[in-house]
Amino acid sequence: RKREQAQLRDEATESADGHHFDINANIGSPKDLDAVVANGAEGIGLFRTEFLFIDSDHLPTEDEQFAAYKAALQSMDGKPVTIRTMDIGGDKQLSYWKLPKEDNPFLGYRAIRISLKQDDIFRTQLRALLRASVYGNLWIMFPMIATLQEFRDAKKIYEEEKQNLTAKGVKFADNIKLGIMVEIPASAVLADKFAKEVDFFSIGTNDLIQYTMAADRGNDSVSYLYQPYNPAILRLVHNVIDAAHKEGKFVAMCGEMAGDPVAVPVLMGLGLDEFSMSASSVLPTRSLMKRLNVAEMQKLAKVALDKETNQEVIDLVKQSVN
Ligand code: PEP
Ligand code: MG
Repeated sequence: RKREQAQLRDEATESADGHHFDINANIGSPKDLDAVVANGAEGIGLFRTEFLFIDSDHLPTEDEQFAAYKAALQSMDGKPVTIRTMDIGGDKQLSYWKLPKEDNPFLGYRAIRISLKQDDIFRTQLRALLRASVYGNLWIMFPMIATLQEFRDAKKIYEEEKQNLTAKGVKFADNIKLGIMVEIPASAVLADKFAKEVDFFSIGTNDLIQYTMAADRGNDSVSYLYQPYNPAILRLVHNVIDAAHKEGKFVAMCGEMAGDPVAVPVLMGLGLDEFSMSASSVLPTRSLMKRLNVAEMQKLAKVALDKETNQEVIDLVKQSVN
């Protein structure tokens, strides 16, 4: 069984009928990199950089951030590394930088909303990312994008920091990809418009489910509404994937759903390109995907999209996949 796992670790992820998918890992800091390599992930699909801010007693400096991003890029040795700019706010607070107290933190000042307003912190992070980019294959994404204007504003700041570095003679890679997290229903609905401007999407189902169902992802009293397989969620995911593919763009998913054995067959059928999950889920998911046929999963996904409830989709998948 150990041998089997070791073999699986070094294989690419292919369905039984020969379709390739990427299985990437989510990390919170360079400490997690060993597990990513040990489990044979095909890249890093989400580096939650806010943990550099949370696990520190000061705003991480440009050089401190540079060291962390460089470590991630080097350890992946040319495989894609998707680094998300910081997602502070919501339930993630900092001891040394008090944000205003809010009645609805999950609907408040969070992630890209902070980055665009306090752009000095954002610019420091972007410079660290750009400088690190020469050490590997860097993809940058912005969290909690609700409008095209936010993406354009963030991209403008990114381009300005590129110019500043160029003026100083500092090198950075010329093939960095720039994308967004799709985790707010507005961007999932308007995915066809976003797809014309971004290089890639990464669907953040943890928040997308929370905001679509209007149910706090951490509140037990409403956890019955946290329904990953609700056809409302599946239809949003379907819309995002189709819109991206029409523009020839790549779609990842980095929420918990990407490593969930009930969701994976449906997501394969919907044509998701990359599944990013905790390192410990990589090999079990690769093993599951190898047993499934995409042609069959496409039929399954079509039926799932037409179901009425979360439970009906669970039952459907359990009957069809064993
Ligand atoms: C998500 O919302 O699905 C996601 C991956 O981001 P986080 O869990 O860090 O909010
Ligand atoms: Mg999120």
